[in-house]
Order: sequence, then structure tokens, then C-alpha cells
Amino acid sequence: MAEVNLKSDVLKKDEQYVWHSMKPYNPQATYIVEKSDGARIKDTDGVEYIDAMAGLWCVNVGYGRKELADAAHEQMMKNPYAPLSQGHLPAVELAEKINELLGGDYVIFFSNSGSEANETAFKIARQYHQQKGQSSRYKIISRYRAYHGNSFGALAATGQAERKYKYEPLSPGFVHVAPPDQYREYECDTVAPTDLASVRAVDKTMTWELSDTIAAMILEPIITGGGVIMPPENYLMGIEEICKKHGALMIVDEVICGFGRTGKPFGFMNYGVKPDIITMAKGITSAYLPLSATAVKREIYEAFTGSNAYDYFRHVNTFGGSPVACAVALKNIEILQREMLFERSSKIGAATLQALQQALNNHPNIGDIRGKGLLIGIELVADKETKEPLPVSQVNAVIAACKEQGVIIGKNGATVAGFNNVLTLSPPLNIAQEDLTKIIEVVIENIHKI
Ligand code: PMP
Repeated sequence: MAEVNLKSDVLKKDEQYVWHSMKPYNPQATYIVEKSDGARIKDTDGVEYIDAMAGLWCVNVGYGRKELADAAHEQMMKNPYAPLSQGHLPAVELAEKINELLGGDYVIFFSNSGSEANETAFKIARQYHQQKGQSSRYKIISRYRAYHGNSFGALAATGQAERKYKYEPLSPGFVHVAPPDQYREYECDTVAPTDLASVRAVDKTMTWELSDTIAAMILEPIITGGGVIMPPENYLMGIEEICKKHGALMIVDEVICGFGRTGKPFGFMNYGVKPDIITMAKGITSAYLPLSATAVKREIYEAFTGSNAYDYFRHVNTFGGSPVACAVALKNIEILQREMLFERSSKIGAATLQALQQALNNHPNIGDIRGKGLLIGIELVADKETKEPLPVSQVNAVIAACKEQGVIIGKNGATVAGFNNVLTLSPPLNIAQEDLTKIIEVVIENIHKI
């Protein structure tokens, strides 16, 4: 390729050998992280940034936690591996701990990533209905705009065409409905949950698809990667009722919302529901090691405990729930609780949202600023009245200017319809107040420059 002004040999080798996810390679925008601490990351040239996205919304307890490294070291020396077709102590302790956080009676299946946790949930949902003699139930309902993972089933559930169309046909049996969108199609949450238009749409879809063919519905409490789309407060209660009405399981994807991101242990806890299946990853270990989990209500699990050879769950993965990852997750949860990071996320998240709204709500390019806890989206528009999205080049300019001032923020939404216009903030839950203040200042300053 043509000569570019590469900053170091590392960047040259990176460009030559590493296939980066998602974006076309851009040596000017790429930085190679070498060190990190708290909410700060430092690249190979010694340039420091505040990571306002906690990686990919995942380093919930922040970088540089020696306790997590010690937990991994200790467990590796004690026993680095045992498959979960057998058992090991860290899995027992972690499953008990997750159950305590969930506040219910759940049995936990461990995997390695969010995608796998969702695949596992889909397989459990389909087999569950078979075990119950309802083998016609196989369809999974999900929402447009949501992301559920990169594998064929999880991608089929995903409602973002730009991520899918080059890989189709994906797994069959997935049906999409529109999500609630409080900003663009305001829904009044003072009506009964099942009277919300977005809930009625799910009800109708399940009816027209035929209830007896529906296995489950999957949803995030708040759509994250699709642009931090907040539901009406009673939307999840409506969905829970409609799932029950049609005999479908309710799967809640907590891959991003879990472990304090929205100011509660799990995002669904903001909305008064008790999902049948809960999937989680990222914040479970604060991304120090790969781990995910699919938590299943006991009564569902019990459908898999018969003595027939075909009754049990024929699903195994080599690395899922490794003792080392489980030990790190346990220590991570201990830190989250000891430092009261769920509560902190709620408190400083609300203050951040308020500061941004106060400074920016009257700005002509601000459509909507929304969020819960330390999950915040800033929707940029070209026109406040028509709500036409701000062109992506201008959105990118804000992000680049923030980076120039040492703050890494995110961009989410939907490329297909030009809605790639939501700036996102999702910093470590233990971020120092001065770092958070800097993020707020830099974001405000650069939005004012649009
Ligand atoms: N569900 C949601 C809501 C996600 O945001 C993601 C990843 N960003 C996934 C599932 C897939 O997780 P993973 O990348 O660990 O497979």
C-alpha cells in the first residue's frame, strides 16, 4: 500500500498481520494499547487516553486490578482446567453467586462469549418445548436494531441488516419486531403495559406467526449497540405478560446491561420482571478473561433432568466456565459489591446524564440524550424538528476531536438507515471523578464545534 505516516514499527506490523474487527484499516486512527490503569489506557507511543467506553462496554471494574490477576494466578496453580461435564469449585461458587445477584432460583450454564450464551439460550428454549411435548415451538422473536452476537443463530436474532446481509442465509426460525423508540415514536408509558403499541406489535406478531410455533423472545433491557434505545418504563412488563400469554420463554440479553452498567446488578431489575432465561458476558469478569453464562429458571432446567438419553442438554464447550475464568469472575463480583459499584453507576450515571442534558439540550444538533446508570447515548441530528440523523462524517468528526483531546467515546446506531448517529459513553464503573468530568467537558466542547 502507499506510504503512510506510520508512528512506529508496531503499527506497521499491526497493519500487516492483524485483521481488526469491523472497520476498514486506518493507520491514522489506530492505536496499539500497551498499558492501562483505572479508566486510562496508554498506547505504544506513550499517549494516554481516558477510555469512556470501557473497551467494548465491558471493563466494569476498570483496568489494572491486581486482585484479578492474583485470582487467576492462584487458580492456575491450584487447577487450571476441568471440564464442566465434571465439575470444579469455582463454577459451583460462581453459579451460587450469580443466583444470589439474580435474586431467583436459576441454574447456570457457562460458555465463553455473549454470542455463545445466546446460542445456548436458543437451544435450551427449543429443546425445553420439545421436552414438554410441544415440538412445534421453534421460532425466536427478537427486535430490529438489537445486536445479539456474531454466530449464525445469534446473528439471525440480531436486527441490524448491515451486520448480516453478506453472510445470509443465517439460521432459519427468527422473526423480528420493531423495538420501542421513545425518541422517534414516542410511546406514553402511563397506559397499561400491554396497551403500549410496541407490546401490542409483539402480541400480534406472535398471534399471526401462530403461538404454537413460538419458542421464545430475546431482548436486551435497553438496546445498547443499536443506539442506547430506552424502552418505556413498563415495556418489559408488557413483554413478560405477552410471552406468558403465548407460552413463549422470555430471554433477557444482559451481555452489556449486566453487572452494574445500568445501575443495578442486572438491567431487567430496573423494570420489575423475572425473565425465564438471562444471558450475560462482558462485565462478568470485567473482560479480564472470556466467560459468559446462561441462567435458566429451575423449572425450565428440570425439563432436562429425565432419565431418557435424549432428555438432557446435548451441548458442551471445552473452555466454557474454565476454573480460572470463574475464579476471576468471583473476585470481580466481590470488587463490584465491596466498592458498591452498582450504586455508584446509578448515582454518577444520573449526574452525568443531567450535566450533558443541561449543557446540550438546546443545541441544534442534539436530538436526544438518554441512558440509565453509566450507559449513555447522545443522538445527534441535522435538524431538531425533522430528527434527520447528523451525517456520519460529522459524527465521526466529533469522535476524532474527542480522541485528539484524549477521550475515547463510542458511536452506535444503524448504518442501513443512516442512523449511525448516537455517541455512546460507557466508562468503567469505578472511573475517577476527574476523568468523568474531563469526558463530560470534552464531549460538550466538541459537540459545540459541530
Ligand atoms: N449481546 C449483546 C447485547 C452484545 O452487545 C454483544 C457484544 N457486543 C453480544 C451479545 C455478543 O457478545 P460477544 O461479542 O462476547 O460474543
